[in-house]
Amino acid sequence: IPYYDAIAHHAMRRPQSLAAVDLATGRRHTYKAFDDRIARLAGSFRSRFGIGPGDRIAVLAPNTTDTFEVQFACGRIGAIFVPLNWRLANAELKAILADCDPALLVHDPEFAERTQELGARQLCPLGAAFEQLALDGPRLDKPVAATLDDISTILYTSGTTGRPKGAIITHGMNFWNTVHSMSMAGIGRSTVFFGLLPLFHTGGLNVFSYPVFQVGGTVLIMRNFDAGEALQLIGDPSVGITHVFGVPANYQFMAQHRRFGETDLSRLVFAGIGGAPTPDAILRTWAAHGVILQQGYGMTETSPLVLVLDKEDAVRKAGSAGKPGLHMETRIAGEDGAEVPPGTVGELWVRGPNITRGYWNQPETTAAAFTDGWLHTGDAAMVDDEGYYFIVDRWKDMYISGGENVYPAEVENVLYQHAAIAEAAVIGIADGRWGEVGRAVVVLRPGQSLSEADVVAHCAASLARYKLPHSVVFTDALPRNATGKVHKPTLRLQFGDAAA
Ligand code: ATP
Ligand code: MG
Repeated sequence: IPYYDAIAHHAMRRPQSLAAVDLATGRRHTYKAFDDRIARLAGSFRSRFGIGPGDRIAVLAPNTTDTFEVQFACGRIGAIFVPLNWRLANAELKAILADCDPALLVHDPEFAERTQELGARQLCPLGAAFEQLALDGPRLDKPVAATLDDISTILYTSGTTGRPKGAIITHGMNFWNTVHSMSMAGIGRSTVFFGLLPLFHTGGLNVFSYPVFQVGGTVLIMRNFDAGEALQLIGDPSVGITHVFGVPANYQFMAQHRRFGETDLSRLVFAGIGGAPTPDAILRTWAAHGVILQQGYGMTETSPLVLVLDKEDAVRKAGSAGKPGLHMETRIAGEDGAEVPPGTVGELWVRGPNITRGYWNQPETTAAAFTDGWLHTGDAAMVDDEGYYFIVDRWKDMYISGGENVYPAEVENVLYQHAAIAEAAVIGIADGRWGEVGRAVVVLRPGQSLSEADVVAHCAASLARYKLPHSVVFTDALPRNATGKVHKPTLRLQFGDAAA
């Protein structure tokens, strides 16, 4: 099946409808204007920079609608789009650039100095130089021949468990993610989607920016997430936001903002939460303000939607990440790979048309991640007897205390229920008697105070003894990666065995 350019399609059908709004600069692009810019960028990339099918174009920038234009211009010339995490250190970025070897690096002027060190073959700064290409370059209106099996993007994983891996994303995976976003989140051409996450992450790029462009809706982005500004926008009737998606930290920080109570959230049709374990307390706080947060589960490698909980199930199945999307297979695998019965924790495996074929330049990691086309997610999960999935935690974060498995997410969930606790994370540390025991790292809300004993007593009210943290450390903020997920390796360095 040939690749088809959705922006050109909507520019033809409904040229004056609004495609994208860059909230930082106030720039608004109709589909017609967007298509014009993309056509000229595509022509410029080809003629000015000599870029052709299979070449990589990387982008290093805080969120801007320019990034989408590069993405679709890549599609038009058959090039591979690589959005980069600008929060990484230069040494980390260098390793990624060495891996994907882009022919061109498009960058925010803010990073001009950094890019000198990165050793990209050609550079193009956003701003005047980029605008000239987008306004005056030669037009390329029809994409070069490509199919849904061709690579659209190399998307690096969040690096929560190790070095980021370049997941290969095809046009077909994007297509299926659009189907899933339509069926599971109801996106359509009247959708006004507001992205809370960075565009170098699958959550920002694919939930739901890309799918919303595919269906002709409107995408709004802010340069960087800001809880107060986000609330103001969501509450503004003239903006008309219908869909948002974020990681738990986005919702937690919005709920803790003074503006939360007075914001009218009633226009939200879909508020998705996922990407990391979701504390029940966050769901309850938002529900008390009339918003049912719908949990979803996915990963970069699955482009990403795998599971979404329907709104009508959100109360009865609170805590579930829902059921799988169309044409997807899911199973809970035991240690031997065989399916385990409902109610038993195992590893979630997924198979379907939205799953990556592997990691860029990493045949061994790729081979290890699959069995007969099933991707091993690395996540501990279980399914109930009605087919609802519950994500327990990452296998790598589980620890064993006195022979019993402890999933930190379960303990964190209880910690978040304490009114004085703003943020919490649990790690396992070595213990002579129990093998490992839990340590809670806690950030208190402003003006609150708690002792270690208070925290343990709070946990003891709802958790078995072996799950209770043996020690509690108070700190000012948890280490988080660029997406807002708690970075457990850093947490272990700061508060684990190595630090002790
Ligand atoms: P890396 O693979 O580089 O270590 P990462 O796994 O964080 O980083 P992503 O692809 O951004 O990279 O995240 C996918 C992971 O996020 C999943 O494997 C899972 O651990 C976690 N996740 C996603 N949705 C949920 C959810 N609803 N509940 C719990 N965890 C989730
Ligand atoms: Mg991962």
